[in-house]
Amino acid sequence: MAEIKFVETKNFKTKPDVSKIGFGTQFTDYMFEMDYNPQEGWHDPRIVPYRDLSVSPANTTLHYGQAIFDGLKAYLHGDKPVIFRASDHMRRLNVSAKILDIPEVPFDVALAGLKKLVAIEKAWIPKEKGQSLYIRPFIFANDDYLGVNVSKNYKFLIILSPVAAYYAHGFAPVKIMVEDTYVRAVRGGLGAAKTPANYAASLHAGLVAHQKGYDQTLWLDGVERKYVEEVGSMNILFKINGEVITPSVEDGSILNGITRRTVLAVAKDWGVPAVERKISIDEVIQAHENGTLEEVFGSGTAAVISPVAVLAYKGKEYVINNGKVGEFTQKMYDCIEGIHVGEVEDKFGFIEAAE
Ligand SMILES: *Cc1c(COP(=O)(O)O)cnc(C)c1O
Repeated sequence: MAEIKFVETKNFKTKPDVSKIGFGTQFTDYMFEMDYNPQEGWHDPRIVPYRDLSVSPANTTLHYGQAIFDGLKAYLHGDKPVIFRASDHMRRLNVSAKILDIPEVPFDVALAGLKKLVAIEKAWIPKEKGQSLYIRPFIFANDDYLGVNVSKNYKFLIILSPVAAYYAHGFAPVKIMVEDTYVRAVRGGLGAAKTPANYAASLHAGLVAHQKGYDQTLWLDGVERKYVEEVGSMNILFKINGEVITPSVEDGSILNGITRRTVLAVAKDWGVPAVERKISIDEVIQAHENGTLEEVFGSGTAAVISPVAVLAYKGKEYVINNGKVGEFTQKMYDCIEGIHVGEVEDKFGFIEAAE
């Protein structure tokens, strides 16, 4: 395996008061960097001082968006830095790479680079419950060329950002608008990749939902506007009549969220039936009307679990569980957060040591 170089800095930043910084505004002293060209493949993995990049105005990513990313978190167990499902996130980065025709990164080098970076930046991992060190790996096309083609050159970076507790004052249940006009991704498209294009495609609908007083958009399938897909930065799960149901990902229009997989694994461990299948919005509304829709929540690395208080569909509002956080939702959040910080036993091997 290629050796990972370490270029040290002498200019260390002042660490912020994490409780005041929210999400993704401050970055640590170092980043991981690696480049790709057709002659050498992925080469020169290194940890270097965090810096601004310079790119050509003709940079292919700026024009055509051939880029991918992932997002995961590091915590401290005592004084040991750990990363939640690091290997799974790095595997998914390569799933996204394949979809965008980006050359896959060598898994061992990417994982070793990630761990080494987190270990070096251990002092940046916040210690308060709910806080974490957010990790953002990303790859972008790096040709200087205005022709439309799969690019020849790429850059892979990992940057780190200490983040505050998402729920500093307890859970904040969200109001979600079921989107039946705009679509985020379609079968045969990029929905299964973590790529900027999917976010660009969702911004306008998100803005419209905000203006109407909703926090997020729940996407339906792009063909029939019938089946539930996901929230766009979170996956969605329903608890109906004692069973946890989340939309299946095989059509390729939904991101296969790692938190979603964590929830399914934990539910099964508890003996709660948990299935992945197609579920129509009509089935959800019907379950609400006959009283079997017990809980609804989103799952994603940033918020971990996000209880849903209201679903709005075709101008009607459906209040879930009287607008209160459901028992299962709360228990799931407590369990996953407990595994993150080492207070709940990790039966699944989700925690990976960074050093
Ligand atoms: C990142 C993301 C999620 C959540 O995935 P996790 O792996 O749980 O963080 C869900 N949907 C989309 C579109 C995403 O980009």
